Amino acid sequence: MLYRYLRRCKSAQMLKHFTVATVSNKTVTKVVGLVGLSLASMVIDEAIGLIKQYVWRNYVTELEVSNTDKSYNWLLQWISKHNQQLLHFSVTTVCRNTESAHATSKFDYEPNAGEHMFKYKGHTIRVKRDRSTILSSEYGSRPFETLNLSTWGRNRQVMNEILEEARLYAMSIMESGTTLMVPSYDTWHNFGEPRAPRSLSSVILDEGVIENILKDIHNFVDDKSWYLDRGIPYRRGYLLYGPPGCGKTSLIMALAGDIKYNLCVLSLNDSKMSDDQLVQLMGEVPSKSFVLLEDIDAMFANRDGKTVIEGSTKVTLSGLLNALDGVVSSEGRILFMTTNYVDRLDSALIRSGRVDFKQYIGTCSDHQLSQMFIRFRPEGTEDDKKRFVEDIKKYNKPVIPAHLQEFFLVHRHKELNYVFEHINDLWQNVQD
Ligand code: ADP
Repeated sequence: MLYRYLRRCKSAQMLKHFTVATVSNKTVTKVVGLVGLSLASMVIDEAIGLIKQYVWRNYVTELEVSNTDKSYNWLLQWISKHNQQLLHFSVTTVCRNTESAHATSKFDYEPNAGEHMFKYKGHTIRVKRDRSTILSSEYGSRPFETLNLSTWGRNRQVMNEILEEARLYAMSIMESGTTLMVPSYDTWHNFGEPRAPRSLSSVILDEGVIENILKDIHNFVDDKSWYLDRGIPYRRGYLLYGPPGCGKTSLIMALAGDIKYNLCVLSLNDSKMSDDQLVQLMGEVPSKSFVLLEDIDAMFANRDGKTVIEGSTKVTLSGLLNALDGVVSSEGRILFMTTNYVDRLDSALIRSGRVDFKQYIGTCSDHQLSQMFIRFRPEGTEDDKKRFVEDIKKYNKPVIPAHLQEFFLVHRHKELNYVFEHINDLWQNVQD
């Protein structure tokens, strides 16, 4: 009995042992299986990664451009204009006041951040625009963006062609008019689209003024080797001074348009601008560009040469002089400064070498009055022209060309007699 009982117990124990052993074996098998599987998937992943890397290195051509390089914007411009297949854009709205005081606006599209595909000469090009990081420099922080173009095959040529087309497209846009450029951190950026160049004949100044400046600019542009042979810094500075509204800015725009230059406009009143940034910007002036420093007297209200007061800019007079003279200043730079009050300028700023050509642009001479009359009222006779000049002279008051332009604009649909009768409006707020 006892024996049977013991045997039963033993069998039960063995059964239990057996069961436990079976169960743990199953677990081990499972664990081993799982480990095996994950090892296998790791190996497969690794292999896929290696294959991808191999294929990428050997069979994919890739071009990466960052927004610190000029070609970044060229590429973006070119991709958006030439690839209507793209569907994902970001938009910039550009508003502008035209010469005729009409406001215009338009949308500029660019591929947005993310991935895009387009076809170029039979190649599928993948574009990846990434703008996730921030680039900090001493001139502030800005988004750091990269544009990554890739295509199948060992094909550097296709990337070169895309870059070259983008460059030519950007150049053709620039040359279609006068591009205004403004500082962006330590470099220059286009401000809107190029403007239709202003014709020199639309700026009416005293006889010979425009011809003299234009001749001087041409001499400078053509005489590079003369400067270099003599070790003279190859740059030229112009100062246009006189009352506001007499055509200083218009003349600079027209000169730029005439010689197909662009215009880099610097405002020292920008509170973020520093001396170092100014030096950097002067060294980065794109070729074939004028630099324009407008209303320079307003910036240097304080003549002690230490601090510039208005606009609480950080730029100092010595910083500006440094930037104008600095060794890193762009070769061939043509600088224009304008002021309404030449006597308020520090003599150091306008000494020879910094300003080589000074020109007074003042209120209307008889010549300007008659030329403006012909321009705005071409139907007038010689006698009308003379009468117009004589009638104005009777008032013995200077005429600002901007006021004369507004006068003709306001009365443009009126008979000539009406115009003669209302000459007095010239010195009032011209309103119909
Ligand atoms: P400034 O720079 O001397 O203050 P602007 O060139 O800005 O003057 O001129 C202001 C406006 O007056 C412009 O619309 C311009 O067309 C007109 N204007 C001023 N002077 C002249 C001029 N001499 N000939 C033609 N237009 C002029």
